[in-house]
Amino acid sequence: MAPTSTELKSETSTEVDRDAFAQAFALAEQVGRSGNVPVGASVMHGGVLIASAGNLRETLQDPTAHAELLALREAAQRLGRWRLDDVTLYVTLEPCAMCAGAIVQARVGRVVYAAAEPKMGAHQSLHRLFEGSHTRVEQHHELAERSAHLLADFFEGLRARPQSSLDDQNRAL
Ligand SMILES: [Zn+2]
Repeated sequence: MAPTSTELKSETSTEVDRDAFAQAFALAEQVGRSGNVPVGASVMHGGVLIASAGNLRETLQDPTAHAELLALREAAQRLGRWRLDDVTLYVTLEPCAMCAGAIVQARVGRVVYAAAEPKMGAHQSLHRLFEGSHTRVEQHHELAERSAHLLADFFEGLRARPQSSLDDQNRAL
């Protein structure tokens, strides 16, 4: 039976999380096909998706074009304010130090990420930059493996390329 509009409004946070991650993963896969490290992010406000982005570092040749930063910018534009204490940011990979800094500056209320990032992660891996901030950070353990596989497949694809594209490889890593 189709849900009524009243039922749709009373979405549980599990359903919101699922929808938000569905969008983040779709964008991660999309940008991965154009040579960007596959990471996606989405922003929910009151159960409504207000922004989403994939990592576009290669496409834009911009070291700051991480999925989280692009999604936060879009969210701030949509809401008309920099303070994002009432939104949740979903991201397929643990944020790096740059993105963690922006998240804390934006006073983002909650962050949920899928895979941990052992080399660059700023929540539980390389740094613990959210400690003492207003941002509540959680790992979505059920989706961690999906994100890790997406990244592993991407880097495996790069390694499988002929030697002539070594420059591209170095560019992407
Ligand atoms: Zn980042």
